[in-house]
Amino acid sequence: QLAMAVKGEQQQQPLHILFFPFPAHGHLIPIADMAALFAARGVRCTILTTPVNAAIMRSAVDRANDAFAGTNSPAIDISVVPFPDVGLPPGVENGTAIKSQGDRGKFFEAAQLLREPFDRFLVDNRPDAVVSDSLFPWSVDAAAEHGVPRLAFMGSSMFALSCIDTMLRNNPLATVPDDPDALVSLPGLPHRVELRRSQLMDPANEAEHWGWAFFEGLNAADQRSFGEVFNSFHELEPDYVEHYRTTLGRRAWLVGPVALATKDMAGRGTDALSPDADNCIEWLDMKPAVSVVYISFGTLTSFSPAELHELARGLELSGMNFVWVIGAACPDSSEWMPEAFAELTAHGGRGFIIRGWAPQMLILNHLAVGGFLTHCGWNSTLEAVSAGVPMVTWPRYADQFNNEKVIVELLKVGVSIGAKDYASCVEAHEVIGGEVIAGSIGRLMGNGEEGDAMRKKAKALGGKARSAVEDGGSSYNAVGRLIDELMARRSSMKAGEM
Ligand code: UDP
Repeated sequence: QLAMAVKGEQQQQPLHILFFPFPAHGHLIPIADMAALFAARGVRCTILTTPVNAAIMRSAVDRANDAFAGTNSPAIDISVVPFPDVGLPPGVENGTAIKSQGDRGKFFEAAQLLREPFDRFLVDNRPDAVVSDSLFPWSVDAAAEHGVPRLAFMGSSMFALSCIDTMLRNNPLATVPDDPDALVSLPGLPHRVELRRSQLMDPANEAEHWGWAFFEGLNAADQRSFGEVFNSFHELEPDYVEHYRTTLGRRAWLVGPVALATKDMAGRGTDALSPDADNCIEWLDMKPAVSVVYISFGTLTSFSPAELHELARGLELSGMNFVWVIGAACPDSSEWMPEAFAELTAHGGRGFIIRGWAPQMLILNHLAVGGFLTHCGWNSTLEAVSAGVPMVTWPRYADQFNNEKVIVELLKVGVSIGAKDYASCVEAHEVIGGEVIAGSIGRLMGNGEEGDAMRKKAKALGGKARSAVEDGGSSYNAVGRLIDELMARRSSMKAGEM
């Protein structure tokens, strides 16, 4: 009878998962989508974050909750805690708001102080599992102390994490000449993977917070976790799913593309959509199918005036229609915009500039868009894959050079612009000339065989992405398996307590 009573109670109590994202858009956005995805399967989801970051996720969470009204899905909660006071100005709580190296250090310190409210949440609420950002490596011990399984989430591809793992294990840079153009082979991966020395984070570069040692600790914490969840899908990188399981002995669930769970195509990721957003969609409505290249570099990348000048020249030379998202932190146009370029965007002509936050999902899924010039952030990459849009790749730092390999070499849905230097989001990069930019856009968007083949592949891959998250698809099933495993764990814990 007791067993039946426990079973009855378990049936009434949905599984409760705590989501704990790092305070940067590239982490908050997929976590909000992932919560929507699990909530749609009956899981009670809470997201723990600070006020500014809660506001960034609010619209996506509200739209998801609206869609659940009248269904059995429990509403997603955001548990808002104060941002730790480390001397940053009020409201500076997110990676995009950091302007100086000094503030970067303080921001890092503040993020690590979130351990206290994290601990408190676990004590007060005893969730069944936590999906913690990998950038909080200490959460593996904090969760273990409270008997809560930790699922790590880095927000990157399995390919990129496999590259980092072999770099950390084998340090292939040690045996390569100290020449930026020297090719470095990453050993032990399913494919032959080679990058220029200048495209890799150098272990000798022990940056105070984000250096090699931090990544070693992070990789070790993820390995010690209950498992890892990926915003990816089996059909995208099957060899790395196998590599993870058999060679690395790590447990992973691929549940993406999570963006396909969003009910908030326009306002996802912001509480301040650009005032240009509606006009941009109307402008796109007037353009022929597959004729527009979309340009955006995510939320953290900054360009020097010289780089912006060349990009503007490249767009002019390419002869293509374009939508270009210029972030709020962009230098004043008088510092870089060529006169002829301003003409192109006047009077609804060949180009449209969005200042501020663009509705990226709406744009990528618009029929007029035929290509995406991207910095290869993993969220943007998967959003393009899901929309069936091929890419011109222009990586800058973090996992972006690895993601470029996925796009150009593994999936063959992109043209590389030929970026060579890994440098953090605030350091200067080599200036790539307008002719090179125009040439890469032309290869992708033109009518040649190369562009046709990539368009076809991208379209087919988009179909596979959508199938993965539909009922019976690989990601759909992975979510089901994870829920079942956590439920079974809860039952065995309860049985153990009796
Ligand atoms: N994004 C958007 N509008 C913008 C800029 C970015 O919707 O104007 C979204 C984009 O769709 C993606 C995320 O912000 O979901 C950026 O993440 P990504 O991993 O591509 O790059 P990061 O900003 O982390 O470098």
